[in-house]
Amino acid sequence: MQGCLRVAIVGYGTAGQAAAILLHGQGHALTVFEQATAPGPIGAGFLLQPTGLAVLARLGLHEQVLLRGQRIDRLHGCNHRGRSVMDMRYADHAKDCFGLGLTRGSLFTVLRDAYADASKILTGTCIDQVSDDGRHLIDSEGREHGPFDLIVAADGAHSRLRQALPQLVRRESVYPWGALWCLLRADDWPHANELRQRYAGTREMIGLLPVGQRVGHPGRWLTFYFSLRGDQVDAFNVDGFQKMRERVASLWPEASALLSRIESPEQINRARYRDVVLRAPVQDRIVFLGDAAHAMSPQLGQGVNMALLDAQALTDALANSANIDEALQSYPRRRRAHVAVYQRLSRWLTPLFQSELDTLARLRDLGFGPLSRLPLARGQMLKILTGTKRAWWR
Ligand SMILES: Cc1cc2nc3c(=O)[nH]c(=O)nc-3n(C[C@H](O)[C@H](O)[C@H](O)COP(=O)(O)OP(=O)(O)OC[C@H]3O[C@@H](n4cnc5c(N)ncnc54)[C@H](O)[C@@H]3O)c2cc1C
Repeated sequence: MQGCLRVAIVGYGTAGQAAAILLHGQGHALTVFEQATAPGPIGAGFLLQPTGLAVLARLGLHEQVLLRGQRIDRLHGCNHRGRSVMDMRYADHAKDCFGLGLTRGSLFTVLRDAYADASKILTGTCIDQVSDDGRHLIDSEGREHGPFDLIVAADGAHSRLRQALPQLVRRESVYPWGALWCLLRADDWPHANELRQRYAGTREMIGLLPVGQRVGHPGRWLTFYFSLRGDQVDAFNVDGFQKMRERVASLWPEASALLSRIESPEQINRARYRDVVLRAPVQDRIVFLGDAAHAMSPQLGQGVNMALLDAQALTDALANSANIDEALQSYPRRRRAHVAVYQRLSRWLTPLFQSELDTLARLRDLGFGPLSRLPLARGQMLKILTGTKRAWWR
């Protein structure tokens, strides 16, 4: 497509950051809005899959993230009795295949530094809605911005722009479970290339993911997470913190030693998740990317990958279409099959790890190990993990 478009990007999380770099590279005139007065990463760390790494490679940022992150070769989870429930190796999917543990700060910094106009982001600007003509944005102080040829809504799981367009939403609910998470110094943690998890039924899950360097801190780091019912996440306080420490000490003493450096509940991030399904990620000239379009439970660890893939698909649609309206018709087709399969899988699989359905835990603990040794099932599980699973019709 020829010509420079006036593009608004609402939200400077992963989706907005990647879209800014790619759309700027296509020569469009960008205005980026971020509600935070000092944009920065929220949370601890995450696992980046090969699909997300491929987008970063296309941005020329592959080496930088590899340097900052931690290569992950294996996902290993066992129950509190030591029975192996999950054991998957990336190399069984493809030679040289791996995931990358990364702190949110590392990814944020790499993407921000790659965006030449990062200093021009309109920070402290919370966008509330789109004007009636669909070409302007209105912020929470009533100021109007625009006009824009294209509005990229990358304002996350709680997207206000999505809430302003309820007719677009097919499904939206808050998961009954959430998680607590924080960064811990890795010290001499022996499983440097493995995501390790420990399960006690479906009600308790603890994870330790090596995530490499942390911006502004020496040493190597781990992301720790502890799964909890949503109401307990919301009410997490000193008592909850004490209880969590006791449970970690009882279920996973090795992890408990690392946690001893955390002294108060304020040092722990809280997360609740949403399940969002849109009828279409496009309305007129507004396109939804990342969690704003398809928030899901992080059980399958795909949200950051999805955000990167969305941004890439949007710029490809713009590059390969005759005009903007054709591009906005093509964009949903490029992402539909991939997004739909992970939305379903995360909805179906989350109760196996986060629910009060104790029977499911027994089935999981008995069935997952033998199932994952069957070549066909193992292949499918690895596709899901690596972010390469497509809907059956593709
Ligand atoms: C506990 C947990 C663990 C996870 N683990 C993984 C993992 O291992 N791997 C993985 O791939 N994914 C993981 N995810 C999911 C991943 O974090 C998200 O999918 C991803 O961050 C979504 O990026 P985004 O840019 O769409 O949204 P966000 O990162 O939420 O960014 C949205 C941005 O928009 C801004 N904003 C919001 N509203 C407005 C407004 N009205 N006006 C202006 N700005 C606004 C926000 O301040 C924010 O900067 C995890 C999520 C959680 C909660």
